[in-house]
Amino acid sequence: MADTIDEANALAEQHLERSLRAARQPIAVGAPGECEECGEDMPRLVNGRCAPCRDGSRQ
Ligand SMILES: [Zn+2]
Repeated sequence: MADTIDEANALAEQHLERSLRAARQPIAVGAPGECEECGEDMPRLVNGRCAPCRDGSRQ
């Protein structure tokens, strides 16, 4: 069980690090529209790309 908890903690730390890094970036101005990468109509695009495309979470 300890290994599972360690893994969960590691994941949480990675997520926190990413959040902190993102928070230090200037906030990009978003605009609704069609994503240039996946073609989906999204409420917020930055540089023409939706959030899943920008952060690489889209499978
Ligand atoms: Zn997209």
